[in-house]
Amino acid sequence: MLTIKNDHKWSACPLCLSKDIEYLGKIDYRKPVMFSTHLIELQEVSSICQCGSCKSWFTQNILHENDALELYKNGESNTKWLRQTGFVEEKPRNIVHRLKQYFIEGKRVLDVGCNIGSLLDFAGSKGCYTFGVEPSITSQAILCDKGHRSFSSIDEVRGQFDVITAFDLVEHLHDLLGSIIKFKQLLVEGGVLILLTGDVDSLSARLTKNDWWYLKAPEHIVFPSRQFFRELDDFELLSIDGTYASVGYMKSIFWVLAQYFRKKILLGNYQGLPALGPDHMLVVLRKI
Ligand SMILES: [Zn+2]
Repeated sequence: MLTIKNDHKWSACPLCLSKDIEYLGKIDYRKPVMFSTHLIELQEVSSICQCGSCKSWFTQNILHENDALELYKNGESNTKWLRQTGFVEEKPRNIVHRLKQYFIEGKRVLDVGCNIGSLLDFAGSKGCYTFGVEPSITSQAILCDKGHRSFSSIDEVRGQFDVITAFDLVEHLHDLLGSIIKFKQLLVEGGVLILLTGDVDSLSARLTKNDWWYLKAPEHIVFPSRQFFRELDDFELLSIDGTYASVGYMKSIFWVLAQYFRKKILLGNYQGLPALGPDHMLVVLRKI
């Protein structure tokens, strides 16, 4: 098994650069942990902090960016998603409805971190031209078979897009601000950026803090707040919908408590409390 050095620490908030940082607690998962599809052992215990200024959260003691990129690149991430049904069946209704507003025939859609292209299949079914960014080599072959144009990194992308989507991506990025600048350059005037990520302002996050299942240390490292998106330069915030990562997380409180008991006490492989309600957000931003 790989032992990975995870001693990267932020000296300021990675999202607004404020030095006003509050410690929320250790992320005390059992070891080893999965990173992409690799089972790895970590040298340090990770912890979670909140920025006093923009209210975003971020993880301390994370992998160095190059080590993380290498693991994602060589991961068999396509195997993680092959069991999935289609995008429309997999995602909550409010996400599908919101996307239909923007997936209009003839629009150029770029999905960053597109994996095997489920979202692009949906965009294609609405008559959009589909492009994806995906570092995993095995996933790229599947995208090609489906007829989606793919790039292995955002730096390779050429052209302009009406819609850029990034689902379950921003929480993995060491340089989220740099990525937002690239997204802006690739959007046409008035183009929209649509992000799906965890919501630190949700009840689930606020109640469980360093026990929130979504922290997923050490893969998830930044958790932008709603305030961060409201204050973002060069973009107008059009909407934020509270939602779930997928329909699989929409469970009753009884199911949540049963899972907690089963994982924490019977199995001993506790990885944080399950979702106590909508704990993701779909953010739509327009380039101005
Ligand atoms: Zn901040």
